[in-house]
Amino acid sequence: MKRILLTGGAGFIGSHLSERLLKKGFVVFCIDNLLTGSKANIEALFPNDNFGFIDHDVTNFVEMHGDLDYVLHFASPASPIDYLKFPIKTLKVGSLGTHKTLGLAKAKGAKYMLASTSEVYGDPLVHPQPEDYWGNVNPIGPRGVYDEAKRFAEALTLAYHRTHGIDTKIARIFNTYGPRMRPDDGRAIPAFISQALDGRPITVFGDGSQTRSFCFIDDTIDGLVALMESNTNEPVNVGNRTEMSILELAKLIIRLTKSRSKVVHKPLPQNDPKVRQPDLSRAKKMLKWEPRIGLDEGLKITIEWFKGRKRGKGV
Ligand code: NAD
Ligand code: UDP
Repeated sequence: MKRILLTGGAGFIGSHLSERLLKKGFVVFCIDNLLTGSKANIEALFPNDNFGFIDHDVTNFVEMHGDLDYVLHFASPASPIDYLKFPIKTLKVGSLGTHKTLGLAKAKGAKYMLASTSEVYGDPLVHPQPEDYWGNVNPIGPRGVYDEAKRFAEALTLAYHRTHGIDTKIARIFNTYGPRMRPDDGRAIPAFISQALDGRPITVFGDGSQTRSFCFIDDTIDGLVALMESNTNEPVNVGNRTEMSILELAKLIIRLTKSRSKVVHKPLPQNDPKVRQPDLSRAKKMLKWEPRIGLDEGLKITIEWFKGRKRGKGV
């Protein structure tokens, strides 16, 4: 059986990826220091003999006994309020954590995949964003701690590929949503759903004309697994092309939850990207993958999960 080390496995995406990889017959070792993730996300996996959890900060030396076929580096705060709260930890896990995990992949002769982000494109001047766009990032702005950590991580990953011949993959993940997002993680979808279900005001930042393109977690996981098993070493966008303004998203969530909440406008955070939409041509060609779940369908599943969580039913 093939053995995988996954960092950040107790987080939102990492927990779904662990589950999928176990279903595919891999042995999965998840390393996480629970900075923004939680054991509740993976507790259903503990009885599985092919799953192991290691509480460790991957900015420190990562020691693993036995062979590894893949190292997948997903550890990093990912929501703006998390990386604004932990700016140095975010820079360290993107730089030192990427270095440690690449070193481990080299020592084991394992394939490597980095969870990068659409944030490498910053506030993009090219729209939609193809992988050969270099981006428009303010390195010293508040979001710079995340964006530059990921840009450094991509540079280091390709340096290990070119210098040491490691088979590396870079997934540029666009906004993903679904069950197991923390209601208080500050990202638009969990914030709006929680506010709508609790009858609180929906906090739209700025005038809400900024756009995003949201991808349901199951589609993102399909794309990530296809990339992991592909032959490409180029960065690949993983996301959904359906783009909408944040004000439209707020109204859609109010409608789907049948909420009486009203929209209130709050100040727009500094350097908040004005538009974002993935160009998926490369993903389609190289991975034969594209998302299948529409926003209404994905939001309904997510809303049901948040309702259950509100009543304390957990995952
Ligand atoms: P998350 O916060 O739910 O998960 C991140 C996990 O990493 C958490 O469990 C956290 O405890 C762990 N972690 C952080 N620092 C660590 C360290 N030093 N050592 C060990 N574990 C550590 O976030 P997520 O949304 O699941 O994101 C996962 C990955 O995907 C991140 O690398 C993120 O940058 C990337 N990504 C996510 C999105 C998205 O829309 N969710 C978009 C683009 C990229
Ligand atoms: N946003 C908002 N209200 C909130 C949370 C987020 O209007 O309560 C906006 C945010 O300013 C951004 C968009 O929604 O323009 C998406 O934010 P999110 O944090 O989900 O993702 P990111 O900005 O990283 O794409």
